[in-house]
Amino acid sequence: MSWRCRVFSKWVSVIIVFVIIAALAIPLPGEAATYSDLQKKNEQLEQQKKATQQQLSEVKSKTQDAFQALVELQSQIEKLEQQSSSLVQRRQLLEEQIATLDSQIKDLEKTIEEERANLEQTLVTMYKWQKVAPSALVLVVTSSVNPELATYALEKVLTNQNDKLESYEDNVAKLHAKRKEIAEAKNEVAQTIESLQTQLATLQSKYDERESLYAQLKKEQNKYASQLAMIEQQQREVSAEIQRMLSSTKLSSNANSSGFIKPMSGMVTSPFGWRINPLTGRGKDFHTGIDVANQYGTPIKASRTGVVIWAGWKTGYGLCVIIDHQDGYGTVYAHMSRIAVKSGQKVSAGTVVGYEGSTGWATGPHLHFEIRIQGEPTNPAKFVQF
Ligand SMILES: [Zn+2]
Repeated sequence: MSWRCRVFSKWVSVIIVFVIIAALAIPLPGEAATYSDLQKKNEQLEQQKKATQQQLSEVKSKTQDAFQALVELQSQIEKLEQQSSSLVQRRQLLEEQIATLDSQIKDLEKTIEEERANLEQTLVTMYKWQKVAPSALVLVVTSSVNPELATYALEKVLTNQNDKLESYEDNVAKLHAKRKEIAEAKNEVAQTIESLQTQLATLQSKYDERESLYAQLKKEQNKYASQLAMIEQQQREVSAEIQRMLSSTKLSSNANSSGFIKPMSGMVTSPFGWRINPLTGRGKDFHTGIDVANQYGTPIKASRTGVVIWAGWKTGYGLCVIIDHQDGYGTVYAHMSRIAVKSGQKVSAGTVVGYEGSTGWATGPHLHFEIRIQGEPTNPAKFVQF
């Protein structure tokens, strides 16, 4: 009794293996897909998916950076454009001021010309009066004033005119100075505008560069996204294929349910079905297989031709081999001390798949053997005489 095993009556983990492997069904050309093909395909698809997801996330992050750079460049460009625009307005204002000054200067220069002409006229009059006929001055000025007074008056006129002219000339000089000042300011503004325009051109070309990089990244992102969608679609197709395969392998009266041989000879220590839990000694437990005991290390043979779909450790089962017989039947060999086959390997009835042991939930060395139909445990005694 001590070598009885306890295996979960729940077949969840084994069913999961079936489903996972089933999810990989991609038939090879000219040949029906086996679970091993599917397993390989699944690994490939998963690897592709991970690699693509990695690439996608890298490209996404690069795209975000590129977008951020574009936003920053755009804001710099807008700032410079605002500066430039306000400077252009200032330049226009200065140009208007210059034009006003020019017009003022022109008017004043005209006045100066006139004043200069007046002054010349006075000088000519004086000259004539002094050189040609001093008495004539009396006639020019006034007939009742004496020549000395007339001369005085003329000199007064001359002085006044001269003062006026000087004042105008002074004003013109001031206007010219102001104009010069404004023109310098205008030139300064024009230079700043030019420098801003250069900066803007540089930024704009940077922006264009980044924009095409962004477009490129966006394209790549779309490429990886559609690759990922394709892989996921393939995975769905694989799942569908498996479902189709499983439903098409439903047992019919024609299905070959024979051909099972005894995996190991020995004593049946626990039959299939309800029993007292062998580990606790309490409670009812559904035993999903049959336990056969022999000497530790006795070779265990494949019960029927098929493909190994699991060769490794499973909780409860310990070192365990699962063979798919590809017509809805599967067999399980548990608690081995050593496994002799690999997943994906084709085996014939009688091929040694491992050696008896007590790995997993076993209280002593024995083989826990199961036959499953569409994943449902069935009594092995119906197929094999122990
Ligand atoms: Zn068992």
